[in-house]
Amino acid sequence: MNRFHGIELNPATAAFLAAPRKMLIGGEWVDDLSGATLPVIDPASGEAFCHVPAGESADVDHAVQAARRAFESGEWPRHRPVDRERLLLRLADLLEANAQEFAELEALDNGKPVTMARHVDVALSVDFIRYMAGWATKIEGATMELSAPLVRDREFFGFTRREPVGVVGAIIPWNFPLLMAVWKVAPALAAGCTMILKPAEDTPLTALRLGELAIEAGYPAGVLNVLTGLGHTAGAALAAHPGINKVAFTGSTEVGKLVGKAAMENMTRVSLELGGKSPVIVLDDVDPAVAAAGAAQAIFFNQGQVCTAGSRLYVHRSRFDAVVEQLAGIADGMKIGPGIDPSTQIGPLVSKVQQNRVLDYVRSGLSEGARAAAGGAGGDGPGCFVKPTVLVDVHEDMRVVREEIFGPVVVAQPFEDLDDIARRANDTPYGLAASIWSNDLARVHRLIPRIQAGTVWVNCHNIIESVMPFGGFKQSGIGREAGRSALELYTEPKSVIMML
Ligand code: NAD
Repeated sequence: MNRFHGIELNPATAAFLAAPRKMLIGGEWVDDLSGATLPVIDPASGEAFCHVPAGESADVDHAVQAARRAFESGEWPRHRPVDRERLLLRLADLLEANAQEFAELEALDNGKPVTMARHVDVALSVDFIRYMAGWATKIEGATMELSAPLVRDREFFGFTRREPVGVVGAIIPWNFPLLMAVWKVAPALAAGCTMILKPAEDTPLTALRLGELAIEAGYPAGVLNVLTGLGHTAGAALAAHPGINKVAFTGSTEVGKLVGKAAMENMTRVSLELGGKSPVIVLDDVDPAVAAAGAAQAIFFNQGQVCTAGSRLYVHRSRFDAVVEQLAGIADGMKIGPGIDPSTQIGPLVSKVQQNRVLDYVRSGLSEGARAAAGGAGGDGPGCFVKPTVLVDVHEDMRVVREEIFGPVVVAQPFEDLDDIARRANDTPYGLAASIWSNDLARVHRLIPRIQAGTVWVNCHNIIESVMPFGGFKQSGIGREAGRSALELYTEPKSVIMML
């Protein structure tokens, strides 16, 4: 298994794929208790190229017990903040040293272009772990001067501590398998938590390889457990498990609601990073070529399988035709191919299910009167390809305008003025992100507070930064990952009041 689509794999990638894949529980590599497995499919060919254990609720129990033991006893609780920082830095170094292998695994498993996997997914993951390592030594409480109005003849002293929340269940999606895992693993381990990480069933490989690196870095047994399995079995069992203190979920809004309800039964802390339908807003002072290049990057990056994808393009009426024409030209010129080929710009979608879902949306838009200025169809052959698609002549109540498609499909519409665009940008249940394109600072500043979104980009889109809080308004989620806020998700404040 050294060559895929005519490309020779790095020997380390080939060696990883040749070995039987097991789950990491309590520091041991184990099969699932029933012996069942799930195929891992190359979305560029539709063929299975390895198998992973199909963990179920008994395996989840086993993993929760291991993580609980590691949290409460043994070596991990004795790790000081500086030790936790050093371990994370070691993990980042190991990931960087194995960057090509991780990029190739991600390209084969998810379909994304290998060059992007290396320079985006792996590079951002290394950066993020290093950034979070620094927080391990900067978790602080505060001291308070107390008044104690009912006990006026005594003095009091008050302070707060932030303590690790405990055992974390992390459930992640398939679009950025490594990066989304690292967004949860790094702050949780920085805070002193232990974790059960469940990758998406479509893309389990880099999470398993990350588990190997965690052992190599020196994490004690049970601190990081990696459990593969289906969402409605393993994922649901994890979300509902009473031995978990926090569930950290990234995925669709539909499943996020189920996970949130299951967690609430046990009052388990929960953070949800969910879907989006983010607007790209081009004002009338922007060069159409700049706007078209920006809009293309906003929607076609990662085949459009990005929670913040700029899937609704709004261009001021005076520039609409020029921007759409150039965007369609970019879409038509993109090189489609297997992700493992370094010259590929648009890889396959992650699975047949996702390809069919996206193509159904395109067909529904076309049948309701939309026109494809570019794309509008799948690719040839057995791979899960969808051509980069630009739909025009759409109206606000079409499904393609209202629902998250999660593929390389943008709907483009003209707008009239700031009031019109502020209303239409917010006319969605989602509120994850938006971008505004203009050099007219006064209008940009007037628009920013009117946009209901967790992130607003100006003259860029999909720029992700370790230091900035990331998350959604409305049905795009609850909580903020990245930045200082990430630490708040994995710690509990404790108030201490002392009578002197
Ligand atoms: P998904 O909701 O289908 O699956 C996400 C994870 O949940 C997977 O690990 C899956 O196995 C698990 N799961 C499925 N059913 C479950 C259940 N009943 N109980 C518990 N777990 C279950 O999402 P997806 O298709 O993998 O990812 C795409 C979605 O993720 C999109 O909606 C996208 O916008 C969103 N996303 C959001 C962000 C963000 O930060 N806001 C980032 C990436 C992706």
